[in-house]
Amino acid sequence: MILSSGGVEAYIGLGSNLDNPVEQVSRARQAIAALPGVAEIACSPLYRSLPVGPQDQPDYINAVMRIATELPPLDLLSQLQQIENQHGRKRIVRWGARTLDLDLLLYGQQIINEPTLIVPHQELAKRGFVLYPLADVAVADMQIPGLGSLSELLQACPADGLHKIAA
Ligand code: ADP
Ligand code: MG
Repeated sequence: MILSSGGVEAYIGLGSNLDNPVEQVSRARQAIAALPGVAEIACSPLYRSLPVGPQDQPDYINAVMRIATELPPLDLLSQLQQIENQHGRKRIVRWGARTLDLDLLLYGQQIINEPTLIVPHQELAKRGFVLYPLADVAVADMQIPGLGSLSELLQACPADGLHKIAA
């Protein structure tokens, strides 16, 4: 949708490794772009990545969306969780296979420490499958609150097991 105000820029990480992950991520992208109070600015190419945690699960498909939003952060999180649930996500094993994982990576320049929402996302600096697609869509010289520049984080994070699969 088109926002009447400029809104705040936010970045969302999308991931799936079950039930046709490419389609899960593509449908989730459309659902996010269609949320009231959200406008898509850009979406990264899709990446294939190796699973974190239990290794006896399929590879993941990952992408990062850049949006402008009028939704406050907790409202945006709850909308993302509704989309996860609509896509049949079940949480069985920590870091285990899932049909859809939507993480609020960044919300403007805000640092948020709520019981249900930590921004920047806690694992952001460690995960190549977040940092590389983030760099595809981020503003140049992006500074990440509390963590430094995106280019420094990328240099410290190998792209092992990460492959761009589609634009
Ligand atoms: P992970 O994404 O680390 O694999 P989950 O998606 O299962 O784990 O974690 C979901 C929980 O994480 C939710 O209950 C949510 O409240 C909490 N959470 C905290 N910060 C964030 C964030 N930035 N984005 C998404 N969920 C978050
Ligand atoms: Mg999550």
